[in-house]
Amino acid sequence: MSHHRTTPEGLTGLPDGRPPSRRRPLTRAGIATAVAGLVVGGLVAPARAAGSDDVVVVTVQAGQSGDAGLRDAIAGLDVLDANGSQANLLGDAATVEDLEAAGVDVVRTRAYGDVIGSAPQPRALRAAPAQSLYPVPERIAGNQYETFFGGYRTVSAHEQFLRDVAAAYPELVELVDYGDSWLKTQGRGGHDLVALRITEGADHDGRWETNDNGKPRFFLTAQAHAREILTSEIAWRYIVSLLDNYGKDPQVTQLLQSTEIWVQTQNNPDGIDLVEDALDDPDLRLTAAGDGNPVNQSKAWQRKNLDDSDYVQTSTSWSSSQPGIDLNRNFATDWGGASTSATPSSQTYRGTAPFSEPEAAAEATLLTTLFGTYETGTTTAAPDDRRGTFLNLHTSGGLAIYPYAYDYQANVPNLEQVKTLGFRQTYFSGQNTGKAGEILYNNAGNDIDWIYDQLGIPAYTWELGSSAEGGFFSSYSRVPAFWAQTERAIYYLAEAAGSPYTSPWARR
Ligand SMILES: [Zn+2]
Repeated sequence: MSHHRTTPEGLTGLPDGRPPSRRRPLTRAGIATAVAGLVVGGLVAPARAAGSDDVVVVTVQAGQSGDAGLRDAIAGLDVLDANGSQANLLGDAATVEDLEAAGVDVVRTRAYGDVIGSAPQPRALRAAPAQSLYPVPERIAGNQYETFFGGYRTVSAHEQFLRDVAAAYPELVELVDYGDSWLKTQGRGGHDLVALRITEGADHDGRWETNDNGKPRFFLTAQAHAREILTSEIAWRYIVSLLDNYGKDPQVTQLLQSTEIWVQTQNNPDGIDLVEDALDDPDLRLTAAGDGNPVNQSKAWQRKNLDDSDYVQTSTSWSSSQPGIDLNRNFATDWGGASTSATPSSQTYRGTAPFSEPEAAAEATLLTTLFGTYETGTTTAAPDDRRGTFLNLHTSGGLAIYPYAYDYQANVPNLEQVKTLGFRQTYFSGQNTGKAGEILYNNAGNDIDWIYDQLGIPAYTWELGSSAEGGFFSSYSRVPAFWAQTERAIYYLAEAAGSPYTSPWARR
């Protein structure tokens, strides 16, 4: 059985009214274990030097003026966050040696658990009603879904939730199966790749494949990187918000009358399965603030999909050597360029060819069907009446990124429009906004570059959260604050789908 539900009565006996974790029902003993780990972490962490089990955060001088040597040296590493002049890279003890051998200016090195979670988690939320912590839309209000790591919904829970929503709101929601994950293509388990199409008249306005309703489209996708667990929670809450406010809030009603909203909550279900298992480990370390601090051998650090065709293990540290292809380095625009690796064990392994991975290829095919092709490159601006907007959610860093990400010196021909629409979003949500190479680091083969380049649609990547708010494994109690921060900005980008290249200047 791929999922279970518990009755509301069953929940009342549990502290905090939490749905049970799928592998470890949250008993009082389980909570005692979690609290004990929390206390130990709090006592030990401040004085502890980075040990061989620690993921290490290496701070290097970076920014857009970084030279070619630096770019090559950090190409296979992921960045926790950056401030324009310095970047915090994820690695282990061996990473530091490699960087120094390559002549990189290492500013400092700290254990991951000592870097994250300095912002206290909102304790008041612990007393909040369970319904506000685990929201579901009204018509399925009694449903409970499997969770891991204190409340994050599992892949099975997402799959069931999307089916339940489509069944309960047929006039608004259609469930679309648009492909298979890599494991499924291999007959090794895996998952369907699914998305929701949400719009008024979803049950009678024709086929989405031919856009019979003629509506502009906004596409939201999340968790292409498996360990970025916060992102699918935001996508889930967006679905709940749309359905609960339709027919009540005039702005949401008008949005679903005029626009088709596509939400894909988990782009990399195979990889997320691994992360769920690892974060349900009873020995998982927590910081004093309750954020996850997995050892570097933990599969919680899985970032890529699970295509192990070319994998050769290079380290016992899963944070440094893991199977899979980086789905956000597998798109075709400047594939193989900046911050991509040809080494299969690397965090940023790009695969053997553009769109070698079904998760990336199926998404590109779906997006091409939804938006149509309009090739822009660096010379051909999309026309003012081009319709559609796209947003991909990642963690962390508190950033909003617009194309081109492969090289900050490459301009999209619609630069002022794309840039202005980006800053309009973050007026609401407050992230640092720019091209990747201006505020984080150049990275090639990503989805937003390809979407603008080939489809002519303004596309954005948000890097939500921060090291202060728990890095990759934020305590679940932080999620409502992240949603509150991002909700209006997501709505803004959806409302711009009808005229993204002119709406920033329109009177509203
Ligand atoms: Zn990411």
